[in-house]
Amino acid sequence: MLKLSELKENDTVVTKKNHPCGGNRWKIVSTGADFKLCCLKCGRTLIMPSETLKKSVKTVEPSGSDKEE
Ligand SMILES: [Zn+2]
Repeated sequence: MLKLSELKENDTVVTKKNHPCGGNRWKIVSTGADFKLCCLKCGRTLIMPSETLKKSVKTVEPSGSDKEE
């Protein structure tokens, strides 16, 4: 199960369901009780409660190129 604490701003997440535009990759704009996501395909933003996001995300692609620690 995905841990919300692993998600940071600027990370990319891949969701199980596609956006109506056909994309399923999102950049995290802000985190918190609600997450704000930006669709990488069409550029629209979406507010999603963290619990919903947790169930929707398939994979996470961290923004950092290398592990810092
Ligand atoms: Zn989209």
